[in-house]
Amino acid sequence: MIYNSKNTDLKFVDGVGFLQFPILGRLDFINHAFSTRVGGVSDGAYKSMNLNFKRGDDPEKVMENYRIFCKAAGFDFDSLVSSSQDHNTFVRCVTKADRGIGITRPHDIESVDALVTNEPGVTLVTHYADCTPIFLADPEKKVIALAHAGWRGTVSKIGEITVEKMVSEYGCDPTDIIAVIGPAIGQCCYEVDTPVYEEFACLTELKPAYFTQMLGHGKYLVDLKETNRRMLLEAGLLSINIMISDVCTKCNSGLLYSHRASGGQRGGLVAMMCINNE
Ligand SMILES: [Zn+2]
Repeated sequence: MIYNSKNTDLKFVDGVGFLQFPILGRLDFINHAFSTRVGGVSDGAYKSMNLNFKRGDDPEKVMENYRIFCKAAGFDFDSLVSSSQDHNTFVRCVTKADRGIGITRPHDIESVDALVTNEPGVTLVTHYADCTPIFLADPEKKVIALAHAGWRGTVSKIGEITVEKMVSEYGCDPTDIIAVIGPAIGQCCYEVDTPVYEEFACLTELKPAYFTQMLGHGKYLVDLKETNRRMLLEAGLLSINIMISDVCTKCNSGLLYSHRASGGQRGGLVAMMCINNE
């Protein structure tokens, strides 16, 4: 397994591998991480750090993986709040009262693709295996958010909608927000057919020529990360405050679960982020 990234750090603690981004590492009010396959107890297609309860893996192993991952990456297991993703655009604001949702107690809402909080001691958890993770942190208002953007969420503007929620609920100024578009399937590997391409081509305000490429015979390459970056600019973020991870999940399928590389036989990755206790 050769890992090669210019802007995303691969760290190991107690044999657990996770990714971090320097632009967020500089913010000392938060902790953040993106998981890898390395260091868990799951077997087979789930080997080994599967953090998704919904893929058919033994739930006790998934729970143990959460405990192992939290200890290594510095999160409080009891503070986790998980999304309930269905490629839609509902953004949920969560508090300490929501801790354990989707981990030690059931989801109480079916469709939640983005989570926001301003409370210390609440760890946001969102799920991936090729889809785009968006990390948002406002160091002025001390507000954080995670959003899940597959192609549907991307064209439905989940990133922009999440920023709008940070503004309307917590008074954030978009020009203060630091964003990371994390590891996801890259344009190198994200081939789509005409119907999906057309959903991106009609985002004319974002200049689709910069994130779509024609291959011929009804096949196209789409750059999900760049589409989301342009959407965050539309939402008012500053270019200098947005970082795109150069890590492609499909090109790194030994390290990261990739839905496309595995044909769907896979575990799941998570993004985690919390505001540290004072
Ligand atoms: Zn790739």
